[in-house]
Amino acid sequence: MSVAKGVAVGMEIGGGQTTVALIDRDGCVRERCVAKTLRSRPAVATLDPYLRAIDTILQHARDQNLEVAGIGVSIPGSVDGPARRPLQVPILPSLNNFPLGDLLENRYHLPIQVHTDVDAAVLGEHRFGAGKTHQRLLFLTVNAVVGASLVIDGQLEYPGRQYVGHVCHVPIASTGPRCSCGKCGCINTLISIEAVKRMVQRALRRGEETTLTQRFLNHETFSHQLLAEEAVRGDSLAQRVYRELARWIVEAITRYLGLFEPNLFILGGGVLYGGDLLLSQIRTLIQDRPKSPLWQMIEVVPACLGSDVALIGSIAPFAFV
Ligand SMILES: [Zn+2]
Repeated sequence: MSVAKGVAVGMEIGGGQTTVALIDRDGCVRERCVAKTLRSRPAVATLDPYLRAIDTILQHARDQNLEVAGIGVSIPGSVDGPARRPLQVPILPSLNNFPLGDLLENRYHLPIQVHTDVDAAVLGEHRFGAGKTHQRLLFLTVNAVVGASLVIDGQLEYPGRQYVGHVCHVPIASTGPRCSCGKCGCINTLISIEAVKRMVQRALRRGEETTLTQRFLNHETFSHQLLAEEAVRGDSLAQRVYRELARWIVEAITRYLGLFEPNLFILGGGVLYGGDLLLSQIRTLIQDRPKSPLWQMIEVVPACLGSDVALIGSIAPFAFV
């Protein structure tokens, strides 16, 4: 008699597309199905392609005699965890307050977990990735907005709402560009992709020479990938932008270190295209800090689950047979 093996279904809702996957107990994606994200539709129409993708993935599980432990969902917004429903989803407002967990449970009769993308990511890194052996993990993801999430002894913690989730206005400096909230030094104005783009724009206005100019003349969109490519080729402006970015990320680490005393700091998001260029700068700046027990115990590492981190992390809460 064959023995059923444990898997779970992960779903990462994204702006361009939504991915549904069959993921095993080691965090490996075994099957994957992608559905287009339809914007400006009512909730039921928005979810329809996702449900069909889940149907397809569950059929794969049945075909392979795999036992499904549950369905985990990663939401790009805020979530009411106990109610398993999205609260605010800026890219898909029709899902705001929609009873997603109840709908999935009634349709599939499986345990359902719904988390924000940042919480899913830190859970994924804790169970399957860089944070497996650490007690106090802080995950900072740097994309269009900055997200932070904290796990202590294997549990998500919400010690201060201002400091976890999408953390646009956490103050990390006393100066810097003015934020939409009216203050200066907010994290989003210093390390988000928009902040980095503005650093480059200011340099271009000053007439600095850079190979980035040719990329913009080619109508390429500004991204961390583009910036990192030019930095690796030796462009001095791109390299300086990474040095400045490293400085602000260390200020963010300083802030979080003082608040929550994490012993592992995981950096994720598009900023990781900066690779060793960025991480070595961050580590050098940390070594230059005055020696204190807090700074001595901190380790800064890149997320190791890559672009699937929230997808894989969405199933991290399930226990497998
Ligand atoms: Zn602000």
